[in-house]
Amino acid sequence: MNLSDKSFRPIATTLTRTIWRWATLFACLIGLAQATFSYLRVHDDFEMQVRDIGRSNIPLLSVSIWDIEPDAVQRQLDGIAEKPQIGFARLTVSTGQVFSAGDQSLAVSTSEKSFDVPSPSRVNESIGKLEIYENPRAFYRELLYSVAIALVGSGVLTFLICALVIYVLKRELEYPLRHIAQFVSALTPDRLTAPLQLPRQAGHLRDEIDLVVDGFAVLQAGVTGYISNLDELVAQRTAELETAMASIQRLSTIDSLTGCFNRRLFNERIVQELERAERYGRPVSLVFCDIDHFKQVNDTYGHLLGDQVLQAVAGVFERYLRHEVDWVARYGGEEFVIVLPETALAEALTTGERLRKAIENDLQIAAEESLQVTASFGVAQHRPGEIAEQLIHDADLLLYQAKAAGRNRVFPVL
Ligand code: GH3
Ligand code: MG
Ligand code: MG
Repeated sequence: MNLSDKSFRPIATTLTRTIWRWATLFACLIGLAQATFSYLRVHDDFEMQVRDIGRSNIPLLSVSIWDIEPDAVQRQLDGIAEKPQIGFARLTVSTGQVFSAGDQSLAVSTSEKSFDVPSPSRVNESIGKLEIYENPRAFYRELLYSVAIALVGSGVLTFLICALVIYVLKRELEYPLRHIAQFVSALTPDRLTAPLQLPRQAGHLRDEIDLVVDGFAVLQAGVTGYISNLDELVAQRTAELETAMASIQRLSTIDSLTGCFNRRLFNERIVQELERAERYGRPVSLVFCDIDHFKQVNDTYGHLLGDQVLQAVAGVFERYLRHEVDWVARYGGEEFVIVLPETALAEALTTGERLRKAIENDLQIAAEESLQVTASFGVAQHRPGEIAEQLIHDADLLLYQAKAAGRNRVFPVL
């Protein structure tokens, strides 16, 4: 959050500016209304004064003029002109004598009232004329006071309201919102569960800010739940995938009938096996095994039993070979290759002989009592520098010799 950004303006500033703008407009309107009101009031006051003069001063003037008392006449005129709403007063006596008081310059422009001064003894006879002129300065003064009061009053009120609004706004809205903004911008996936805690006044009632905080808690819980579900789902799918991969791997390397490795795997693994033996200078032997007259077995007992024989022979290998060391692959139809790591020829021949006897005497097939299965073996030890094909060829050649020598035997003969 960049607070010095020119396009950023705090809420309190926006609100204060708006209040000031409208308050100035309202103050002008109030001032205008006040001016109109002042004008009407000053005018009313003038009218009242004029009526008052007509009631109280005219009879006195009448007597003073009749008694020919110029000082008294002048005093009364001065008294009239002293009134704030009256700017100038002039009395023209019927004898031609003129009395005046106040500012004569006002005698032209402003509104004027005139009275005939009656004779005290004769009815309907005028002995003079009194003209009274309004004082506009009184109006301006009144206008100035009232407008000034209106403007200063509304200005002070606006200032106080603004100060109060700023204080409340900052405390209740601006600070909590900034806190929320900082919290959100610092939210990272590893800190997703960190709760949003706002420093609120002790004992404050819940408001919209608290609703936002509650909303955040719900959102965080939802996102966290979703992510952990996702993690679980990914872990589950990965496990399923690994199982499937392992199964595919197994299927692609295992012969489905006998459970031995298939020829594809044999071709790969024999190379590694020979490399390892070569590297460490260790012996490794290969035994080629072929079931004797297997075609006859199939022909006599059927293909299904033929399959069972193949499985039983694989079972013999399983039982009579070293686990995790020796390994067997089905090379072809009824041919198996047995790889014996860390084994020299003599020991390999012994193993071959043991397997031969086991097939002859210990083949576990429940169905046929009369069935007799034998197998022939060719055994060869790997010679330094010899490639896999040569070793297989050596063993195959010896197997062929075993077959030729009458079957059910291991070649070479010790
Ligand atoms: P030899 O003693 O000379 O090895 O004679 P053999 O009959 O065993 O050899 P041959 O190669 O003539 O016959 C092998 C037979 O193995 C032929 C084929 O039908 C049979 N065979 C190959 N694969 C399978 C299999 O998966 N199941 C069954 N039941 N028979 C198979
Ligand atoms: Mg064969
Ligand atoms: Mg055979």
